[in-house]
Amino acid sequence: MVTTSDGTVFIAKDDAPGERRVAATPASVRKLAALDAQVLVERGAGAGAGFDDDDYEQAGATLVDHDAIGGAGVVARVSPPSTDFTATLSPGTVLLSFMAPHRNLDVVRALAEAQVTTLSMELVPRVTRAQTIDALSSQANVAGYRAVIEAAYRLDKYFPLFMTAAGTIRPARVVVLGAGVAGLQAVATAKRLGAIVHVSDIREAARDDVASLGATFIEVPDAEDATGEGGYAKEVGADFLERQRAVLTEHLTQANAVIATAQIPGRPAPELMTAAMVEAMQPGSVVIDLAAADGGNCALTQAEQTVEHGGVKIVPGQNLPSSMPAEASALYGLNIASFCELLFDEGKVALDLDDDVVAGALLTHDGAVTAPAIADLLGGEDT
Ligand code: NAD
Repeated sequence: MVTTSDGTVFIAKDDAPGERRVAATPASVRKLAALDAQVLVERGAGAGAGFDDDDYEQAGATLVDHDAIGGAGVVARVSPPSTDFTATLSPGTVLLSFMAPHRNLDVVRALAEAQVTTLSMELVPRVTRAQTIDALSSQANVAGYRAVIEAAYRLDKYFPLFMTAAGTIRPARVVVLGAGVAGLQAVATAKRLGAIVHVSDIREAARDDVASLGATFIEVPDAEDATGEGGYAKEVGADFLERQRAVLTEHLTQANAVIATAQIPGRPAPELMTAAMVEAMQPGSVVIDLAAADGGNCALTQAEQTVEHGGVKIVPGQNLPSSMPAEASALYGLNIASFCELLFDEGKVALDLDDDVVAGALLTHDGAVTAPAIADLLGGEDT
């Protein structure tokens, strides 16, 4: 089924606390304009990422106030919206955004009730055809890189091996939990800085990925491959977690930095580090927990602040892409422009619900919550 509507794309000024990214850069505005879309950019939308209103205008965008959102065919933003934001959208508008839908059920319900069509960037299928739209990957890459830089900055020790006339400095030891996109980028970055890197994951395919980057895979006795639907990990049982924690404890006692990225889509993050495991670590070491928004891989992680426990710093890392806003926005802007290539036809929004990428990303449409897992969380109601 194809439905068509107005051919404007509205780039919203992101209002989430601490969010500095934006859904289009002047470069991606040119790509949107090439689709014959009329691009409206909310004044000041790019300020947090260092893009001036004038640059957007020169790229072909029209600068507008927030009120102009009402008439837009497509609205794009980065962070999950609030209900205040969604209340400004009109029926029939297509919203492109990260949604964290399982954490924002009230917003999902409100979007369905408002007859907004929501395409959630987290739900875009990880298929070859959608690689240019894969914002989870583009942002996870930024987060994985930045997490290592943050750890190195907070650590009062070198990462690389140093051999000097005055003696030898041993390299830092880094443990990476989870070898998905963010974890593998963290491994590569820590290796480039000269650290010794050990990695834990529960998917069989991760073992080769880790080895190819020159890091060591942490073996858990009697492990079974926990690869689930779509190549993501499945939740593991309490017995396995117990054995995994026992093996990890040995590595953590020697680690200077931990980059924690282990996640299960739509579920709380696995708790891989207990308070006792942190207490066994060396004072001065650092944990950067990228899973903080979903509860964290460390029992002591707090989403909004760094905690110090027995001399170990535990830093939440869910906003790391926003700390490199220009480059994170450049990548995200291209993800959005690529998505719009699927959504536009001859300058009009033409939503093809038979397209597997569009259908896979569809969260709300026509008054209903269309993503089965989220509809289940909402009690199966067709809101
Ligand atoms: P994610 O953010 O959901 O999870 C991060 C990692 O945590 C995963 O590697 C997962 O296996 C791991 N994990 C879960 N529970 C764990 C536990 N108890 N202990 C240790 N690790 C645990 O993952 P992601 O980065 O979004 O990637 C998920 C999958 O999607 C990967 O297989 C990745 O290769 C694949 N992928 C495919 C494409 C594509 O084909 N276009 C693009 C990106 C990612």
